[in-house]
Amino acid sequence: DRLGIYTYWSLPITKILRPGTVTILNLAGLNDEVQDHVTSHILTRVFKARVSYMRNLEGPKYPFPVVVILEEAHRFAPPKHVRSTLSLGVISRIASEGRKFGVYLVVITQRPSKIDPDVLSQCNSQIILRLVNQSDISAVFGASEVLNAELGKLISILDVGEGIVVGPVTPLPLVIRLRDRVLEYGGADIDLADAWKFNADIDINEFKERVEKILGAKVSQANVLNALPLINTVNDVEIDMKVLRGRVGNVYAEARLGDGSWSCEVCGSTHEPCPHVIALAAKALKDNLLSEKVK
Ligand SMILES: [Zn+2]
Repeated sequence: DRLGIYTYWSLPITKILRPGTVTILNLAGLNDEVQDHVTSHILTRVFKARVSYMRNLEGPKYPFPVVVILEEAHRFAPPKHVRSTLSLGVISRIASEGRKFGVYLVVITQRPSKIDPDVLSQCNSQIILRLVNQSDISAVFGASEVLNAELGKLISILDVGEGIVVGPVTPLPLVIRLRDRVLEYGGADIDLADAWKFNADIDINEFKERVEKILGAKVSQANVLNALPLINTVNDVEIDMKVLRGRVGNVYAEARLGDGSWSCEVCGSTHEPCPHVIALAAKALKDNLLSEKVK
């Protein structure tokens, strides 16, 4: 209120984020305190919405994984003893716990020594461009378990556009030359590109009704939302004697068409279809494997 940056109504998170789409929050020109407020506020809401979605809690939910890219990260996450910011709390939380809720963090800075060491060490993979300042080089060393002295020597002699990649994104440390602004993402736990492919424009209610018809049972909205990111992981779908079978990721699931009976290797025969069974039905629907009658 004092800063005069908020209205009484917040924009819903689904108006700010869309799957497979980059949302840029341009904070340039705002003073540091306002930038910190806005960053802390938005990141807290994004994180909460993912936690609520994954744990099926009250409050706004967001059903798709989110990658947070924090440019000039030293402004928002400086070491605690240097300066305290509002954003550091939520940034640390995302850095340490975000992965399990599908919130991924990319921290970008030219001054790694000015980033809180806990945040830096939570960044599993690093792309290191040329650094000359000794404290920056030390900070990067302190945060990486993979960086060895030999690679370390390279950091200060890299050319413009060259970098060293270490961490789980690469099986071996790599020295790379960057192309011009072409990015391709491969996620670690969730395949992000796939999770986003089934886009948010589908009418969830219509989709839900069609799945219910296929399975012959009511499905919950929460399970439908949980099923969405799984649809592109469904394989080996077949229909034999009115039984739909397939693998959802590594999980085997089957359902008797329109019969209200199903089973899942992981969830068993729950009282309502689990996300695996729903994803299986959705995949059959998407690939047009069903006769007109069941559709
Ligand atoms: Zn299941």
